[in-house]
Amino acid sequence: MTPLEYDRAYIWHPYASLKDAPPVRLAKSASGVEIELADGKKLIDAVSSWWCVAHGHNHPAIVEAIRRQCERLCHVMFGGFTHESAVELAERLAAIAPKGLSRVFFADSGSISVEVACKMAVQYQNALGRPERSRIVALKGGYHGDTSLCMAISDPDGMHTLFKGVMMKQLFAEKPACPFGAEWAPSDIASLARVLEEHEGEVAAVICEPVFQAANAMNFYNPAYLAEMRALCDAHGALLIFDEIAAGFHRTGPLWAHTRAGIAPDIMTVGKALTGGHVTLAAALASERVAETISGGKPYAFMHGPTYMANPLACAAACASLELFAKADYASNVALIERAFKAGLEPLKALPNVRDVRVLGAAGVVEVERMPARGDIERVIDKHGVWLRPFCNFIYSMPPLVSDERTVSRIVAAISELAACPPGPAAEDGDFHE
Ligand code: PLP
Repeated sequence: MTPLEYDRAYIWHPYASLKDAPPVRLAKSASGVEIELADGKKLIDAVSSWWCVAHGHNHPAIVEAIRRQCERLCHVMFGGFTHESAVELAERLAAIAPKGLSRVFFADSGSISVEVACKMAVQYQNALGRPERSRIVALKGGYHGDTSLCMAISDPDGMHTLFKGVMMKQLFAEKPACPFGAEWAPSDIASLARVLEEHEGEVAAVICEPVFQAANAMNFYNPAYLAEMRALCDAHGALLIFDEIAAGFHRTGPLWAHTRAGIAPDIMTVGKALTGGHVTLAAALASERVAETISGGKPYAFMHGPTYMANPLACAAACASLELFAKADYASNVALIERAFKAGLEPLKALPNVRDVRVLGAAGVVEVERMPARGDIERVIDKHGVWLRPFCNFIYSMPPLVSDERTVSRIVAAISELAACPPGPAAEDGDFHE
């Protein structure tokens, strides 16, 4: 059997059926913005491999950091041990985190860091003698991961509806309907205010993806919403969690998307680009107030501890990645990508199958009435040598932050051709999620 035949016979891919399975491509190597396939063809990774490959694939500095770490210490349990790469990474994260968020809890993936953040909020309220404050308020249109609590706080009508029966029921405010760049109206926050009033005394924390609701809605919203959210949380005794896993590390422009609002959360999650997309790692960063309160109330310990917590290889990769973020001027490069996306994608609004075009930072979204057929998607990918992964009604690109004008114009050309294709059949469940 060839590797692809073997893959088809034995492997399950994300959000894919085994019946009429969508094609997978055999990746042989990757470098910079490109993935090289086994047959020698190269594809621009226009989605940064689900938005994590910020500095480009196989960045020599990150590869070298992993190699050096490999020779010294591949893994050690984090209960009872620490190691230099974890210490360096915590120092680096605390230095760039919003003021006051200096306590770092490492997690193996973005989803786990969100679970950890929510557990911190519940334990915090418990330690204050408020065990009835155990619910999380989230926003419709949000996405926070695929583990059970993450599903329970992601869009209730989104991709996880099948699991409603097993999920703990959480609370939802309406999706922010105040577009980025549009004027702010106080009514924009009314739904969240109402939920907090109706559930006074029940809420541990409010969570959102700041400014950019990515995997469920591709929605860019007004940062003023976040400032109001902060005030509401303070007024109602709830903690504020910002999930910066998708929007952080310059994806929307600034290092952290929420800094546009001039406020800070109590807990923040980071992941994806943390290691530059080289090894899985995430973290929940808490304020000293949250950390000390948790440590001051029974059981006096924060109750979480995964086997691979703070894996040294991942921490070494993240240290090298943060060094690159510190040295490079990503804000300028993201501005360049934004300009090129605006110029290239906005004219697509005139196409009959296009509902809307939205661009912010290094994220460009073409919302279509109906997704073109799978055959058209595959044809456009191969023809342009540009890897796209459209889902639901969204044809989008979130390329590596190092992408130059030539790369972006090839991505724009591919998206333009796809957006001009005729609408495909109505989506089947299981088609083109994320
Ligand atoms: N939070 C946000 C905002 C995300 O976009 C994602 C993944 O897309 C996650 C959490 C989950 O991260 P992971 O896939 O690493 O578990």
